[in-house]
Amino acid sequence: MILKDKHKCKYCGEEFEWFYQVPQKMECRLFDVETWPEGKVRLYRIGRSIERNGYLVPLNAEAYCPKCNRLNYIEIEKQCL
Ligand SMILES: [Zn+2]
Repeated sequence: MILKDKHKCKYCGEEFEWFYQVPQKMECRLFDVETWPEGKVRLYRIGRSIERNGYLVPLNAEAYCPKCNRLNYIEIEKQCL
């Protein structure tokens, strides 16, 4: 399961896309081979997560802005869960 959304950097105002592959609770690591889409920012630090349909879904996280390289706090909106 993939989460993705846009976030506007609170430091420089640049909008960037982030991306996160939600781990399945029972997932075997051997099959976790999905490649990262180019040009998207990976979530850096996952905060609180909830369990939904066997996935551990993050509610908030942090990601580095690709323009100014500062850490942004991101709240993951419910519509992309
Ligand atoms: Zn920025």
